[in-house]
Amino acid sequence: MKKVKVTFNHETCIGTGTCATLTTKYWQMGDDTKSQLIGGSLNKKTKVYELTTEVDDEDYSILKETQQFCPSQSISVKEIK
Ligand code: SF4
Repeated sequence: MKKVKVTFNHETCIGTGTCATLTTKYWQMGDDTKSQLIGGSLNKKTKVYELTTEVDDEDYSILKETQQFCPSQSISVKEIK
């Protein structure tokens, strides 16, 4: 298992739905046509949503794909030691 921090910038999301197509475990499309980070909470200082969680290798790969394929660079996935 890996401990990861996922961050999501709702402001810059352009609503392509790519992340939610890759996995609905972490991403869902909201009524505002933008994505939502499931279980994420808004950091009022940085204005991005954050989720710290433990994932297996498969989920880690999928999360990294959501980062890689997000066209607006709204997603960051980093392993925490
Ligand atoms: S892939 Fe990026 S731009 Fe597209 S819905 Fe997800 S966060 Fe938004």
